[in-house]
Amino acid sequence: MPKTSTLKSLARQHGTPLFIVDHTVLRRNFTEFRRWLPRVQAYYAVKANPAPEIIRTLYRAGASFDVASIGEFRLVYDNIRRLPPKKRQDFIWDKIIYANPIKDRATLEELDQYRPLVTYDNSAEIGKIRRHAPHAGLALRIRVPNTGSMVELSSKFGAAPGEAADLIAAAFDAGLVVEGLCFHVGSQCTNFDNFVQALNISAQVLEESAGHGHPLKLLDIGGGFPAPYDGSVQPFRSLARILNAELRRLFPPNLEILAEPGRFMVATAATLVAEVIGKADRDGKRCYYLNDGIYQTFSGVLFDHCQYHVKAFKKGPAQLSAVFGPTCDALDTICQSEPLPDLNLGDLVYSENIGAYTHASSTWFNGFPPARVVHVNV
Ligand SMILES: *Cc1c(COP(=O)(O)O)cnc(C)c1O
Repeated sequence: MPKTSTLKSLARQHGTPLFIVDHTVLRRNFTEFRRWLPRVQAYYAVKANPAPEIIRTLYRAGASFDVASIGEFRLVYDNIRRLPPKKRQDFIWDKIIYANPIKDRATLEELDQYRPLVTYDNSAEIGKIRRHAPHAGLALRIRVPNTGSMVELSSKFGAAPGEAADLIAAAFDAGLVVEGLCFHVGSQCTNFDNFVQALNISAQVLEESAGHGHPLKLLDIGGGFPAPYDGSVQPFRSLARILNAELRRLFPPNLEILAEPGRFMVATAATLVAEVIGKADRDGKRCYYLNDGIYQTFSGVLFDHCQYHVKAFKKGPAQLSAVFGPTCDALDTICQSEPLPDLNLGDLVYSENIGAYTHASSTWFNGFPPARVVHVNV
């Protein structure tokens, strides 16, 4: 996070609510990922925060990208394609994976010219890809345990491991090429055993598929790498040590390994500064109203099951206070009991580690716009 004096002066300069993205932190997170997982190519999951400035910084640092809609595909393609021209398909595969197992026809038709790498997890999708994107390469998404992850994904996506070999064979029978497997252990996965189980399931599926005459070339270990929101999250290098050991033990060295970190890259890179616009005491409880809330930068409280802390720049004896957003909806509650000093109207507050799944899902509900964004140390 930039120094608090920097946060305050940026807020004075640009107004609030202000979403401040520090590109030094983005580069540091990317470098840390590479350093501890040297065998794994990182495809940044753009949905966590799709700002073009972030895409360009991570691209320059060496990242590839995970997209999940045609809009995200175009966004990434338009922001990176000016750079080194390789053969187009190599370039696309090296730089972009389309990781949404469900794609509509129009999306597939537009994607086909790029001969992209796309994921699938069911047989209806095979027919659709065969008709509308016959030049795509495939990765089968398998279902793996999401136990204890902050955001659970296994109820929506992933072929049961027992069906995997058949779905791979079915794609080859349809004239398509399956390149590999992918999975997602759930977002903010602090239970590292999910990764261990997922890798072991993948090894079994790869072995079974090779036994049926379909050896695969790549394994995409998805996202889920946890951001250090609080001291209870074990350091990234502990997870990396486990992953490296399992990758070495279970897979041949020529298997290409990809990952799709979203939250890990951007969560710690952004800070929000907001202003106290209202203050009341209700039933003996201090209540503050901010000019940012659940419908804007704090959307992650709802969609991402993530609790953010609101901190004051000011010092003073703290009392447990409720903090609300600016809309007329009672759902627009940021926290029920945050220890805050006595604040006045016009005072600024801030929230750290708020870069992932926040601004990305801001709305204009009730006429309140998303926070303004500034990028520092670009
Ligand atoms: C959301 C998503 C990601 C990113 O997950 P994080 O937990 O933010 O790392 C990666 N891959 C897929 C398929 C996703 O849906």
